[in-house]
Amino acid sequence: MAINLDNDDFILGVIGAGAMGRGIVQVAAAGGLRVKLFDVNQAQSQDAVEFVGKMLGRAAEKGQMTEADASAASGRIEVVEATQGFADCQIVIEAATENPDIKNKIYEDLEGIMAEDAIIATNTSSLSITTLASPLKKPERFVGMHFFNPVPLMRLVEVIDGVRTAAEVGDTLMELGRRMTREPVRCQDAPGFLVNQVGRGYNIEAAHINSEQVADIPDLDRILSEGAGFRMGPFTLLDLTGLDVTHPATELIYRQFYEEPRFRPNVMLRARMEAGMLGRKTGHGFYDYSSGKQEFPAEAGYPAYDGLPIWISKAEDEGHKALTEIVTKIGGNLETGESPSSDALILVTPIGDDVTTTAVDQGLDPARTLGVDTLVGLATRRTLMTNPATKAEFRDAAHGLLTGDGVKASVIRDCPGFVCQRIISTICNIGCQIAQLGTAGPEDIDKAVVLGLNYPNGPLTFGDQLGPKNVLRVLEACHRLYGDPRYRPSPWLRRRAELGLSLFDKEI
Ligand code: NAD
Repeated sequence: MAINLDNDDFILGVIGAGAMGRGIVQVAAAGGLRVKLFDVNQAQSQDAVEFVGKMLGRAAEKGQMTEADASAASGRIEVVEATQGFADCQIVIEAATENPDIKNKIYEDLEGIMAEDAIIATNTSSLSITTLASPLKKPERFVGMHFFNPVPLMRLVEVIDGVRTAAEVGDTLMELGRRMTREPVRCQDAPGFLVNQVGRGYNIEAAHINSEQVADIPDLDRILSEGAGFRMGPFTLLDLTGLDVTHPATELIYRQFYEEPRFRPNVMLRARMEAGMLGRKTGHGFYDYSSGKQEFPAEAGYPAYDGLPIWISKAEDEGHKALTEIVTKIGGNLETGESPSSDALILVTPIGDDVTTTAVDQGLDPARTLGVDTLVGLATRRTLMTNPATKAEFRDAAHGLLTGDGVKASVIRDCPGFVCQRIISTICNIGCQIAQLGTAGPEDIDKAVVLGLNYPNGPLTFGDQLGPKNVLRVLEACHRLYGDPRYRPSPWLRRRAELGLSLFDKEI
């Protein structure tokens, strides 16, 4: 018999009254559902009910709901003293401690108490839904319902089908998620589900770039927040979440994927975790927080441009046009010949390739050559790239020139894909592979990432904006230079790039 969420006798059960359980109770009650809450620690349940009452009261003060609605929502919450209290619940969401033994014992109890067709859902963030379901008598009624912290503010919920989960069970939870005023997305069981899988791309790739001495930590944060529009730079974000949370999660996802190179953790992050430089919580991470706030170093001033002749490579038509427009506006001393004069500053606009490869391929004097990322950040924070032969006077001339209109610029060392091209392509590639493996559809992948990670775009929208062909070029260049399968492009991306299709296009 299908579960009807509209029935007056519908009751949701929640197990665990910690950070997540209480948030789940709050949004369920606010969404009009009757909720029963159980925690082994009864004081924790009482504390949660008071906390939720306060939160609902605050929502009423802020005008987000009426006082009558807030008090009605509080009235829909009931604490039960044992799991037997869930006998009349049609769905239970388990949000107890992240320990498979604790969770399996809870499911065993629930199977003996709840009706045959009742649903058991888990809010686990790292355990496999399929594995958790395997000891159950009826694994088809078991499903993942992954909320994000803090639940009332994070609207996303991932509904995860294990290998044996019945389709209608996931359908019911999608509807339940909407009743709880959430934005549910559907996915198949996979390490890291959707959000935590894609989230590996940003921080880890930035750490790999920093480990290669390409750019320092504050500059990487500046480039990605100001240049690419991420709400927080990767290292500021790592400090916020704490390396003791992020790094073990990365290691787990890497292992669960049988050492898939795309998820390979970074050695520097492990070392810093072991050194106790966890981030805000320890007062010291990538930045200092001993004063209670982040000490973000001020940027050094920019050198002045002294009128040196400038020659811009035409090898990349769009890059050449975009950069010529800016240099002309700034009043740079632009050369228009087919090749640079003997003392000109040479600017190249590679997509994917590093400056060394670009200068050698185009027969340019590397001592005078710098790269400019014209694909990302040209209007907000520019990225200039040297190569091992670049002379300081040409680096400074380029830096002065490209900040001449008030836009900030960072100078980094040679790297395939600069910073933004490479990190966005990495994120896009992970998103494409999730689509290729059928873990979720393109729309749900993007929705999950925007709502769950607050990125300016989802992975596939990022790819369509940069151009799938460009993303492919960046990944191929990284793959060529490093020989590392970490950068091998997903077939989902390659096929759509080669066919000139959007990354959202599905095969029949
Ligand atoms: P928490 O430590 O804040 O709360 C866990 C609660 O479970 C505690 O109150 C504990 O008393 C209770 N508990 C332990 N054993 C129990 C049992 N046998 N029966 C009933 N209650 C029991 O943990 P949390 O952060 O709320 O996480 C809960 C679950 O949600 C975990 O599976 C976690 O992976 C997942 N999750 C956490 C986050 C997060 O950011 N905190 C995000 C998404 C998912």
